[in-house]
Amino acid sequence: MKIQAAVAHNVDEELRIEEVELTEPGPDEVLIKIVATGVCHTDAESIKGRGAPFPSVLGHEGAGIVEKVGSSVTNVQPGDHVVLSYSYCGECSQCLSGHQNLCERTVELNFGGKSKDGSNHIHQHDHAISTFFGQSSFATYSVANKNNVVKVDKDVDLALLGPLGCGIQTGSGTVMNSLRPEPGTSIAIYGGGAVGLSAVMAAKIMGLKHIIVVDLHQNRLDLALELGATHVLNGKEVDVVEEIRKITDGGVHYAVETTGATPVIIQSIHALRVSGTVSIVGMGGDVTLNFTNDLLMEGKKVMGTVQGDSVPQLHIPKLIQYFKEGKFRFDKLVKFYDFEDINKAFEESKTGVTLKPIVRIAK
Ligand SMILES: [Zn+2]
Ligand SMILES: [Zn+2]
Repeated sequence: MKIQAAVAHNVDEELRIEEVELTEPGPDEVLIKIVATGVCHTDAESIKGRGAPFPSVLGHEGAGIVEKVGSSVTNVQPGDHVVLSYSYCGECSQCLSGHQNLCERTVELNFGGKSKDGSNHIHQHDHAISTFFGQSSFATYSVANKNNVVKVDKDVDLALLGPLGCGIQTGSGTVMNSLRPEPGTSIAIYGGGAVGLSAVMAAKIMGLKHIIVVDLHQNRLDLALELGATHVLNGKEVDVVEEIRKITDGGVHYAVETTGATPVIIQSIHALRVSGTVSIVGMGGDVTLNFTNDLLMEGKKVMGTVQGDSVPQLHIPKLIQYFKEGKFRFDKLVKFYDFEDINKAFEESKTGVTLKPIVRIAK
């Protein structure tokens, strides 16, 4: 079928909305009419050339309505509201042990540009176009594997839900599934973007005593307080490590590092109390540590977390339930854009004007 898609033709070029050809869904695939889609940092990375091969249709936080299902699909049916999340094989040892986020085929299935069976779903003038995260949601329709699809309640605004498939799942899941803090403990969250603030809301739900957010922008710190932070620190104005030690009487039990900035990563380790754990979520570069002083002697732990250690089909419905109860107000992070303004959504995300852009595809 012919669809409209925002095509990334070349590195650092603006996306162009064009007509492309989408193939029919295979036996274990689903055709989805995309209603709206979040824009995530990983889409921007792909435009810079660190993602799927060009040309590609990006987008990996889609939300839409099922139009058609393949013969072996049983988890959804036409008319269902769905959120699209990351791709996983469902068959490797990581997938079988509940760690789909670390699927052994993650890179190939999410960034390789082809669907799980190795074919291309999108073509333009007979040339293959890469898919992204097995969904390519910057388009009016998507064909995705049944593993990508999460059925959601129909009594919430579907246009709002796409970002639950990646960024918001990452922040909240890092606290709820990966760190699993005990009530009454303390956490520091570095970076007040969509991922960091999702971690704040999760920490509040889990009953933490100290939820400390570190950022450089006052508007983000204000929003952090509104969403559940107990303390905020402006990294430009105070000695973050010293302040955290003062607030918590010795350091935090847990930390989430979303910035990927080397000095902040080091800070996040230094501000842990003895035997504390920091989860690294932001993509960063090289960091020099003294393993004896920084880790060994105080039994500290540093770990990486992908997609918040979330099984999307379990985690996303849970977030929606918290949202309905007024405990997880991720709607305060979003700003809507028309499909024609998709490049503006990227621009305003980059400059920090918008924490989480959502592009409306269906009018
Ligand atoms: Zn797998
Ligand atoms: Zn993402």
